[in-house]
Amino acid sequence: MPLTIVTTSWDDGHHTDLRLADRLAAYALKGTFYVALNHPGNKDIEDDEIRALQRMGMEIGSHTLSHRLLTGRSAEEVRYELRESKARLENIGGVPVVAFSYPEGAFTPAACAALAETGYTLGRTTMAFRTPTKFDPARMPISIDFRRASRVGLARHALRDANIAGLADWVRLARLETDPVKLGKLLFDAALANGGIFHVNARSWEIDGNGLWQDLDALISHVAHRPGVHYATNSEALSLTQLEPQCGHAKAA
Ligand SMILES: [Zn+2]
Repeated sequence: MPLTIVTTSWDDGHHTDLRLADRLAAYALKGTFYVALNHPGNKDIEDDEIRALQRMGMEIGSHTLSHRLLTGRSAEEVRYELRESKARLENIGGVPVVAFSYPEGAFTPAACAALAETGYTLGRTTMAFRTPTKFDPARMPISIDFRRASRVGLARHALRDANIAGLADWVRLARLETDPVKLGKLLFDAALANGGIFHVNARSWEIDGNGLWQDLDALISHVAHRPGVHYATNSEALSLTQLEPQCGHAKAA
């Protein structure tokens, strides 16, 4: 049987993350919550809430300290964001933090290089429509950003990231579907049939603000409780694939 993994990731660090984690736990799903401790636009998550997520089997990752884009900044500033956020989250949670997500999904070769220098094993992007089990861990893709978006908006985002493989899979596996529930089901079904990683990404505060809880339930109930499927955090998904970061040695997958 081909390897099929379901993983989820949730960006920013917000009070609503607990409600989201409850929904995941109800379906025996796991996730990685990427926290930006000094996020300017959101209510910060409390230290106790971070520890509560960990007790539920969820992983805590870093989303920088400030949530400022890493593009156009000096190597030293980038290293500071990565190193300092990791140290503070480890101090709160008491376990190593090895997963990182790039603010707005914007990564650069410098940010990619800083990952390994500061002790991370995984850098998650927002390159969507992807399900392969083989990928560069410094540029981990996702399958779906769970939000309502237009076809033009999705295409523009993919082009910004030069995500040509994703665009091809969006056509091939999902016929340019935009509805997040239908798109998610098509990509999961492809990963189940052929092997792959189905990776749902979003922000809990946005799910809440846009009234998407029922839609999210519709998707996660479809992917849950499947025999032989591994339900994993982002780092556990990486361990199952046994991939090494290619940063600096090869182009993005
Ligand atoms: Zn963010």
